[in-house]
Amino acid sequence: MPFNIVRGDITKMNTDAIVNAANTTLLGGGGVDGAIHRAAGPELLKECMTLGGCKMGQAKVTKGYDLSCKYIIHTVGPIWNGGGFGEEQILRSCYKNSLELAEQLGCRSVAFPLISAGVYGYPIQQAIEVALSAINEYLGDSEMQVTLMMFGGRIVAVNDTEFESIKQYISENLVGQFATRRRRHAADDAPAGQEQAAPPPPRGGETLVQAVTRLTSELELDDKELCRRANISGSLLGKIRSDGRFRLTRSEVIGLASAFDLDCEGAGQLLQLAGLPPFSMSDRADVILRYLFENDCCDILTINRALFSFDAL
Ligand code: ADP
Repeated sequence: MPFNIVRGDITKMNTDAIVNAANTTLLGGGGVDGAIHRAAGPELLKECMTLGGCKMGQAKVTKGYDLSCKYIIHTVGPIWNGGGFGEEQILRSCYKNSLELAEQLGCRSVAFPLISAGVYGYPIQQAIEVALSAINEYLGDSEMQVTLMMFGGRIVAVNDTEFESIKQYISENLVGQFATRRRRHAADDAPAGQEQAAPPPPRGGETLVQAVTRLTSELELDDKELCRRANISGSLLGKIRSDGRFRLTRSEVIGLASAFDLDCEGAGQLLQLAGLPPFSMSDRADVILRYLFENDCCDILTINRALFSFDAL
C-alpha cells in the first residue's frame, strides 16, 4: 500500500528518508527533533548549521548519519494558534514539500512523524486528517511508500462520535467466544444448510480483472484517481490487469472496494473474486470494515483511521 499508519519510533525506521518536525533554526530541539539528533549523532547538527534555517512549511535535507535512513528531511510545521492563521495550509505544504523533496532524491520510501502535533499544539485528530489527506493527494502521482508514524500513548484517529458508533457496533456484532456459542445454538435450530448465508455470487461469473475494468469504466476513473482512491500503486494496478492469476492482499482488495464506492455486499463479492474469505464477524478488523461499508464511510482515509484507532491495522 502506498501509505500506511504505524505506531512506533521514527528513528528506528528503515525507510530511505525520515522526516523531522524541526524548528526554523534547524539546530535541534525537543520531541521528535531531539530524538532524531540523538540517534543520528553530532555530525547531523554540523550539517544543519550550514543550511541557514528553514521557513515554516518548507523542507530541507541532510544525510542520515547514524540512522538507518539515507536522508533526513527537515520541515517546520505551523504553531497552532486556533486554526484561523493558515495553520492547515502550512501543515499541508510541510507534507507536500517533504514528499516532493523525497521524490527528487529518488526515495522509494519515507516516514513522517505527526508534524506539529506535539509541542506546536496542533489538535491531534485534525493533524492526522491533514497528514493523511495531504499524503493521499500527493500519492496519485507517485509510487513512493509513505508511512505516518504515531508515537506515545493510545491515539484515536477518528472523532469521538465516529469512535463511539464503531465501538457500539463492535460490541453488538463481534462474535467472541460466548457469542459464538450462542450462535452455534441458534444454528442448531435452523433448518439444515441455513446456518450461514451464502455470499452473493459474482456478477455473471466475472473475474476480478473484469470486475475491476467494468467498475473503473462505470465510475469513469482514470488510473491515477483509481490508485489514489484505492491506496494502491500504479505498478500493482498494472499487475492486476496483466496477470489474471495475480494474488491481491486483503487490504488491497478493500482499497479497491473503497475506490469503487461499493456497499458491504459488493465489497464481500470483490473479496470472493480475489479468492479471499468473506468478512468474518469474529474478526475485529472485518467487523469495523463491515460497519464502514454499511454506513457509507468507506473512503480509504476513514478506513485507515478507523482501523488504526481500534488497533486493527
Ligand atoms: P512539533 O513541534 O512539530 O509539534 P514534536 O516533536 O513536539 O513536534 O511532536 C510531533 C509529533 O512527533 C508528536 O505527535 C510526537 O508525539 C511525535 N514524536 C515524538 N518523538 C517521536 C519519535 N521518536 N518517533 C515518532 N514520533 C515522535
